Amino acid sequence: MGYKNVCVNCRISLSEGTNYELFNRNKTCPTCKGKMYFVNEKFKAPKKSNDKEWKIIEYLLLSGYDFRNPYCGHEQCIYFEFPKNLQEAEEFIREMRNLD
Ligand SMILES: [Zn+2]
Repeated sequence: MGYKNVCVNCRISLSEGTNYELFNRNKTCPTCKGKMYFVNEKFKAPKKSNDKEWKIIEYLLLSGYDFRNPYCGHEQCIYFEFPKNLQEAEEFIREMRNLD
């Protein structure tokens, strides 16, 4: 449990623990020096060989989703279930943006 930083390039996630004071939201990847994405504890990294899920994760992260569950707007919340394909991921992002 705890928050994580994810590098989609190297397909790794590093735990940031649960201490709010110590979270690092602007971390660069220790391996490739690329940008890491700060995600919620709901995030679970698939195996490195799982291309399909990593593509979906990359899409969600680039779209600004941080794996909060539920994702709440002003009046409504939506619950996240890991999309089966990119099309489902796109639908989720569209729904998420409609909430703001
Ligand atoms: Zn990396």
